[in-house]
Amino acid sequence: MADRQHDLVVIGAGPGGYVAAIRAAQLGLDVACVEREPRLGGTCLRIGCIPSKALLESSEKYHELVAGLDGQGIKLGGVALDLPAMLARKDRIVVDLTDGIAGLFKKNKVTRYEGAARLAGPGRVAVEGKDRVDLAARHVLIATGSVPAPLPGVELDGDVVGDSTTALSFPTVPRHLVVIGAGYIGLELGSVWRRLGAEVTVVEYLDRILPGTDLEIAREAQKLLKRQGLRFVLKARVTGARRDGQDAIVEIEGQEPLRADRVLVAVGRKPYTEGLGLDSVGIALDERGRVPVDDRFRTRAAGVYAIGDVIAGPMLAHKAEEEGIACVELIATGWGHADPAIIPGVCYTDPEIAGVGRTEEQLKAEGVAYRKGVFFFRANSRARALERIDGRVKILAHAETDRVLGVHMIGPRAGELIAEAVLAMAVGASSEDIARVCHAHPTLAETVKEAALAVDGRSIHA
Ligand code: NAD
Repeated sequence: MADRQHDLVVIGAGPGGYVAAIRAAQLGLDVACVEREPRLGGTCLRIGCIPSKALLESSEKYHELVAGLDGQGIKLGGVALDLPAMLARKDRIVVDLTDGIAGLFKKNKVTRYEGAARLAGPGRVAVEGKDRVDLAARHVLIATGSVPAPLPGVELDGDVVGDSTTALSFPTVPRHLVVIGAGYIGLELGSVWRRLGAEVTVVEYLDRILPGTDLEIAREAQKLLKRQGLRFVLKARVTGARRDGQDAIVEIEGQEPLRADRVLVAVGRKPYTEGLGLDSVGIALDERGRVPVDDRFRTRAAGVYAIGDVIAGPMLAHKAEEEGIACVELIATGWGHADPAIIPGVCYTDPEIAGVGRTEEQLKAEGVAYRKGVFFFRANSRARALERIDGRVKILAHAETDRVLGVHMIGPRAGELIAEAVLAMAVGASSEDIARVCHAHPTLAETVKEAALAVDGRSIHA
């Protein structure tokens, strides 16, 4: 006998799970959400996107002041770093936002259970932890997310050798931070500690940074980050890292080892399904440890669905949110929509790097004929006024139909500018459509319009 019954039990309260729970409640379902951590919000809010953005913001401000604003006619006195206060601000933001989700659950009448959920046969979920309860549900949604992928030969001690969670709370600025992996996490957190004064070396297995990002943009990013003092060692496979006294030694295949007082391992993440009891409903993982689903997020077990990092696709909070909403709308109404081809990606370095749709490399590999328009921030008046002139916007449009196939950029507030491109792609816009839309002057967004004009060789300010 189950202790409690719900229409839908969501396992995991990350951005995928908590958003799905709220949307399902809005649609009239009796919804419960099971989360093991005392705080709601998952990796993104507790130990990912939000705390890292808080530190990126503070470290950017600090660095800007240290570097000086003389060029803008502003003379400063001494600038000092108060790291404990900076970390405390980050923690406060996390507390406020995670409390906010608890409030949203109350408002929407989502029942919250604190404990680890395990599927216990069809329509059953057992919760163990602070709450111990057996639930019955017509629908179960798996939104358990992902955890950092381990690197063979590297043992994390949560201190000198750590993952992103460790690097969000270093109590002092490292002398030398070695970052393993030049992906989103490595570049964002590497930037934070570089700006605060650490020497930072990023070791990357590939011959480029940011795999999956448009290569022209990734190359420019590497150049700009190098100028900020990040050191890159590319085509270098880390085979081990171990603590050595107060320091760590990082072993690289065929190269001299590196010594560092902190090591950040950021070599990707893997779906998290441990102890979920998938066997009890006959779900087998795919070759990459993901839960297989169909285009309506249904697993092979009747009434069990999965979304977010635990299924295929990019591991991004907003992708999980879209899927969560589509999944519960499909359950409750029969209709729902999430387009896997139009998911923006943003790396919050300075300048920001953002993209949506297919990269130039992908279009070439697929043999798609395209036209390309590029516009540089240095020719944008607002960027000049902001003194933020590095970067470019690139629009890729179909050679015959002019439909926008991909937009990639690096530049000030690129993470905000990409939204226009996402909307354009979502409504099937052509580059001509973007070019003929009035953009306020003087704004950074004019770079997008100018790049669209450039597709047809008629940008005004280039
Ligand atoms: P990633 O997959 O983005 O990058 C990992 C990098 O590590 C790759 O470039 C890979 O080639 C390299 N690598 C792997 N093994 C190596 C080895 N032995 N030696 C040297 N390099 C090695 O992974 P990440 O940066 O850890 O991020 C994890 C996930 O979190 C990603 O899916 C990312 O999308 C997500 N994330 C997103 C954001 C954001 O949206 N801004 C921020 C942080 C994380």
